[in-house]
Amino acid sequence: MTAKKMIVIGGGPGGYVAAIRGAQLGASVTVIESNKIGGTCLNDGCIPTKALYKSASLYHAMTETAQFGIHVDGFRLDMAGVQGHKQQVVGTLVDGVAALLKANRIDVISGKAHLMSNRQVAVSTPEGETTVLSADGIVIATGSEPMMPPIEGIDLEGVVTSEQILKFDFVPKKLTIIGGGVIGMEFAGIFNAFGSEVTVVEFADQILGQLDAEIVKRYAVQAKKQGIAIHKQTKAKQIRKLENQALVCTCEGKKGDFDIESDQILVSVGRIPRIRALNLDEAEIKYSLKGIEVTEHFETNQAGIYAIGDCNGKTMLAHAASHQAIEAVDHFMGVSHEHSATPIPSCVFVNPEIASVGLTEEALKESGIAYLKSKFMFGANGKALTMGEGEGILKVLSDKDGVLLGVHIMGPHASDLIHEATLALHQALDVNAIKGMIHAHPTLSEAFHEAVLGLKGEAIHLA
Ligand code: FAD
Repeated sequence: MTAKKMIVIGGGPGGYVAAIRGAQLGASVTVIESNKIGGTCLNDGCIPTKALYKSASLYHAMTETAQFGIHVDGFRLDMAGVQGHKQQVVGTLVDGVAALLKANRIDVISGKAHLMSNRQVAVSTPEGETTVLSADGIVIATGSEPMMPPIEGIDLEGVVTSEQILKFDFVPKKLTIIGGGVIGMEFAGIFNAFGSEVTVVEFADQILGQLDAEIVKRYAVQAKKQGIAIHKQTKAKQIRKLENQALVCTCEGKKGDFDIESDQILVSVGRIPRIRALNLDEAEIKYSLKGIEVTEHFETNQAGIYAIGDCNGKTMLAHAASHQAIEAVDHFMGVSHEHSATPIPSCVFVNPEIASVGLTEEALKESGIAYLKSKFMFGANGKALTMGEGEGILKVLSDKDGVLLGVHIMGPHASDLIHEATLALHQALDVNAIKGMIHAHPTLSEAFHEAVLGLKGEAIHLA
């Protein structure tokens, strides 16, 4: 029997995972990538930001070593070195993905793809040639791009996107960030730690809008202490350049208009699916401004054509793209799956870290679900105190019977701690299931155990 042919458009965490899964299941796979293998995640997103986050955290930590009895004299920030570390990590991972594709006998073509029909894809190579490829199945995984709001002066030099700020080999004295979502707040934390005077302008009445409000409120207090200025319910209206090259952003706030002067402005107001160049109309694939429309198997309205990751606009996270890749390719290859609502954890790499899974307290209230709530403060966790990171909270929400519905963390290693909670939600575990599980001491994970015990008033270390 001849192998099924599969074309994957885009080599990010959606596309490369789809390609490898297809090869594992016996398909003959071609990946078409117009830029760099690894996509936004490896080259311009998750990984480079976390490399900068590490440098920024370390630089900040150098100012706090005295509490551990270590006195450090004469350290300094070297942004070329910071960029070097970032590039080395990105390079290692991109090479790793390229090696994985090769090991799985996946063809990789450099070029820009668009659909010709529901079984044909045209590829324009950098050399100017166009080739037409045919397949039994096509996976669209073209990701997303920054949204640029219609603000006068947005195209001035010094007004940058996340992709450009990632390459800064200097620390702006003053940095304004338009948009206090995850990307904006991560850069706010990074450049604040590097020494920039950071001001965030957020249109909504809460930064990090999708997160549990109590966690965000507590984080906002920390951000303020760190010196990050945040203007909520404020709209950036116009940007202009002064003779001394400074950028002035005129904002409309609760009490009227005001100006913010800075050296650089980051625009991070959200991302839009990258689907314009795909010829979707010609291929009669349904889409909207939010992305390509898909079924629960991530199949479009054209059988055999799938759309995964940021381009379908469902959940713009790398791990969601990779999960959707497996679901889509398994469906295409006839591997059946049981479908349940899989909880998707999300993390924000600020100081302290934030991580979240499941429903927020606001969502529970809005949908009228009766719930129990318990919190544990990291200030009462021995491990956190030894680390000098006692600031933070772990909040657990369950239904009236104690089945976990949401877990929200601000604290040390929140991005790792969230996975025990994610497993609990994934398996619909209740208080009793977690109660009897022994958590090692002294660990940060004890905070989760204690918070869960607290749902039924049984926590030992809660006052
Ligand atoms: P992408 O990774 O964008 O890959 C799409 C690929 O398709 C690209 O390589 C592109 O060049 C290629 N392509 C596009 N059009 C064509 C075409 N016509 N022909 C051929 N190739 C094409 N997510 C997290 O989970 N954790 C994080 O910490 C995190 N941090 C982020 C930080 C920043 C600054 C940004 C911008 C994003 C971050 N994200 C994070 C989001 C994450 O990067 C995306 O959700 C993820 O990359 C989506 O994967 P994808 O495969 O759908 O698309």
